[in-house]
Amino acid sequence: MQDLIEFLTARLDERQKAAEAAAKVCGCHPAAGSWSLTDDESGGHIATDDDPHPEERRQLGRRWNRSYNDLFAARHIALNDPAAVLADVASKRRILAVCVADLEQRGAVDGDVDRPTWDVLLSLVEPYAGHPAYRLEWEA
Ligand SMILES: [Zn+2]
Repeated sequence: MQDLIEFLTARLDERQKAAEAAAKVCGCHPAAGSWSLTDDESGGHIATDDDPHPEERRQLGRRWNRSYNDLFAARHIALNDPAAVLADVASKRRILAVCVADLEQRGAVDGDVDRPTWDVLLSLVEPYAGHPAYRLEWEA
């Protein structure tokens, strides 16, 4: 049980660090983690919302080549901007904390786990099934 909690916490830490790094558009302003997708005559691009340096051309301003595949990828990227990832990570940390508190209250952190809480934890860890440290006993 404890190893699953530590594994999940490490994955959430990784995602949070990556999102925070992506949100840092410069060294002189607060992070700007929200990105928008625009598609107009001048070409589509993913832009940082409230960009503190809008006059500078940034890597995120790259255009796609007008193919549907690239447009779908750009939509996906904008929907998974740092702000969205950080909100998702925070939500999962709260769910994990509720599970841990429930297990601690029952004295079950290292022992028998009631099915609903265990199912929630297995659902949280499921997206990481391809990770080298993922354990087969975590499969639902
Ligand atoms: Zn700046």
